Amino acid sequence: MTTLITEGGPVAADATVTRIGGVPLAPPGTAWPSCADCGGPMQFLAQIVLDGSGAAVTGGPGPQDRLLVLFACQNRPGVCQDWEARSGANLALILPAQGLVPIPLPVPADLDEGEAEGEEKEDDPDDPDEFEDEEEDEDEDEVLLLGATRAAEPQHLPDAPDFDSARAAWAARTGRPRNHVLGRLNGTPAWLQYDQTPSCATCAEPMRLAVQLQEGPDPLTAMNFGSGRAYAFTCSPCTEAAFLWQC
Ligand SMILES: [Zn+2]
Ligand SMILES: [Zn+2]
Repeated sequence: MTTLITEGGPVAADATVTRIGGVPLAPPGTAWPSCADCGGPMQFLAQIVLDGSGAAVTGGPGPQDRLLVLFACQNRPGVCQDWEARSGANLALILPAQGLVPIPLPVPADLDEGEAEGEEKEDDPDDPDEFEDEEEDEDEDEVLLLGATRAAEPQHLPDAPDFDSARAAWAARTGRPRNHVLGRLNGTPAWLQYDQTPSCATCAEPMRLAVQLQEGPDPLTAMNFGSGRAYAFTCSPCTEAAFLWQC
């Protein structure tokens, strides 16, 4: 049995469902997480609903459910070690699914300074510099948020022994491209390199795969795993999570 998640179309950016992209949810007052390598804000990747047993599901959360929330640094791709579990350049958090609000976007450091020194320019639609400023702001948002919010639709393939055969079977059955497969829930990771299953930081037991993620169907809105795959693990009893990717 393999459970794939496939491109389920657009969904509200703050929906409490399993989704790729959109805005991160957290308890009120939570600050946007920053990278331990470069100190800059990380990019929000995805949130996965975990049911009462700790299994990853796609639907809206029940009262006992939790959210697995995933971030990775995109400020210096290839330099900050966001592919490494617990490097501090990525973040995997398990949160209670109730009472969460969107985390406010961090204020860019340069804008902060401008305001402090009273250098903010007045609005002038003819000022070419102003247009440039707006473009820069958009670039900064791309480092924080993906360009699309995608719902994850579950596809249960009872006869497929692993991810790759399940993906091929789904594409053949539906006629949809393989890159509409966003990943898989639970089960066994389909490693591209060697087995890097992390141990729980609290109980030292091997952690359980919650989700394997592909970069996504559109290069413009894709997550960056070096054209590879990402893996998020949990130890539900200890409320521990870890994220890594391989290519
Ligand atoms: Zn970084
Ligand atoms: Zn544990």
